[in-house]
Amino acid sequence: MTGRAGAGAGAEAGAGAGVLPVVIPEFTVESRPFWDGLAEGYLRLQRCADCDAVVWYPRGLCPQCGSVSLLWFTASGRGAVYSFTVVRRTAGPYAAVTPYVVAYVELAEGPRVLTNVVDCGPELMHIDQPVECVFDAGDDGRALLRFRPVIS
Ligand SMILES: [Zn+2]
Repeated sequence: MTGRAGAGAGAEAGAGAGVLPVVIPEFTVESRPFWDGLAEGYLRLQRCADCDAVVWYPRGLCPQCGSVSLLWFTASGRGAVYSFTVVRRTAGPYAAVTPYVVAYVELAEGPRVLTNVVDCGPELMHIDQPVECVFDAGDDGRALLRFRPVIS
């Protein structure tokens, strides 16, 4: 299966921003629930059972208190652009997809995720732009996490 499935009812925000050709990394014991969630169309994050911190990226220890009691939960898939850049010129495999948007998205649950914002003309991007998850599935059933604007 190839294509995208959003976290909710998305809206077309115009064509333009490139989709980066990123290779999905090898799964680890700590990250497998995250990757499995993406393949199923869910964003799963970890929450510390001892200090309640929401943890990004997937790992075995809480970065706040060192606890190993990290529990998985399904996140909203919503967030807002915290910061971004529009790349218009580069070399290598990314050159073919310029312009593209690289952004820090602040998730509704708190963590900031470095990501690729797609389905948006770069000229429409702005700080605090509401966004939602897009699950980019490849032919092997594995998926990548990206975001697209939510236009109300
Ligand atoms: Zn903790």
